[in-house]
Amino acid sequence: MDSGCLRPIPACGEILMRKLQLHWQILIAFVLAIIIGFATRGISSSSPELAETLIQAYNFFGTLFINALKMLIVPLIFFSIGAGVANTGGKNFGRLGGKTLLYYICTSGLAALIGVLMVTIVQPGIVDGQPAREMLGLDRQELGASFQERIEGKSFGDLKDVFISMVPANVVKAAAEGQMLGLIFFSILLGFFSTKLDPQHSEFMLTFLESMFQLMMRITHFVMLFAPIGVLALVARVIAETGFDSFVPLAKFLVAVFGGLLLHLFVMMPLVLVFAARVNPLKHYAAMAPAMLTAFSTSSSAATLPMTMDCVENRAGVSNRVTSFVLPMGATVNMDGTALFEVVAVLFLVQAYGIPLDFVTMITVAILALVTSIGVAAVPSASLVAIVLILGNFGIPASAAALILAIDRLPDMTRTVNNIFGDSCGAVVIAKSEGEDIYGSGGASEAPA
Ligand code: ASP
Repeated sequence: MDSGCLRPIPACGEILMRKLQLHWQILIAFVLAIIIGFATRGISSSSPELAETLIQAYNFFGTLFINALKMLIVPLIFFSIGAGVANTGGKNFGRLGGKTLLYYICTSGLAALIGVLMVTIVQPGIVDGQPAREMLGLDRQELGASFQERIEGKSFGDLKDVFISMVPANVVKAAAEGQMLGLIFFSILLGFFSTKLDPQHSEFMLTFLESMFQLMMRITHFVMLFAPIGVLALVARVIAETGFDSFVPLAKFLVAVFGGLLLHLFVMMPLVLVFAARVNPLKHYAAMAPAMLTAFSTSSSAATLPMTMDCVENRAGVSNRVTSFVLPMGATVNMDGTALFEVVAVLFLVQAYGIPLDFVTMITVAILALVTSIGVAAVPSASLVAIVLILGNFGIPASAAALILAIDRLPDMTRTVNNIFGDSCGAVVIAKSEGEDIYGSGGASEAPA
């Protein structure tokens, strides 16, 4: 008998999965997750125990995937920035750093202005011509315990702590606590002074940093293979737990948020790619798809960083020199989606409280959002702390932001996509300005045309 005919089905599945490009695998997982999530939600009334068990299973696999990504963040930032700065020989580092910061500030500023534009058009805080304060129950807003913990003792003075944390007293503690600005600063010093040693030590350091960085990228590649399972578990859990019911009362606010985020992602960023880098945006979306879907399911640009780096380097074809410096920096500093969201959320509440939205108020909020988005941690719902800080400026109680926390999951997932996509566009623009041939014959090795 020809044993080939009897080949077991898993082998066929394996062949199919190997042939299917990663972003298709993730996309299929994503669609399946929506179906599974709603199905789980559907059975939760008839058999709550089964639904609970399923949610716990999604949680288990989702957490494993996020942990695997998080495990890579500290060594990846450390070695990629260290090797990136060392590779520039310390000479071009100032130019690269200057360009990167300029790009990040300009694009986050534009994103904040899109937020202002959306609020002006949609007027989310006004319902039937009246400030929506009472309608939204803002007077009676009760604080949840976890929300209270998040914002406890936060004031505008905390903004200076963001800058103080750039020079950490203990770099190991900074890394352990996820204070990436401190880690970045130390890594820049390490890379820069590695080039200033005598040749024997300098060569060793360069090889060491570069080898460690390559090693981290290899592990990243391995973790990425599990992205379809991770995305499936994470998205199914969110849908099974929250569904879409809680969104209805805040429809206008959500229109302003999603309208702004989509405008940024599908209008502003393509314009940046076309005019600043002469790159076809469609190719770039295709190259970044795995990272974008991962950002959507993890709600954390830090956790997505390994994937972002892999996509920009191996699929878009940006050099390692640019990727390894621009992206870790971007994951921490450049948060377009967050800046935009902060603006819409704050102006929505300001308007709902009946405070007139004049030009100065709007621009002040945009600037505060830009500055605070730099300090916001790249983890889920981190921007709520910044929103509370800015609200305090208007005398609006922090409890008002609890309303936003209640429905933050989907906006958080979406703005994280904007955050990492903005970083990836930064890498492409800066690589182009350094004379690299992106999506040329040498690049886009895996990305579909
Ligand atoms: N979740 C966002 C990120 O990691 C941060 C935020 O806006 O809350 O990029």
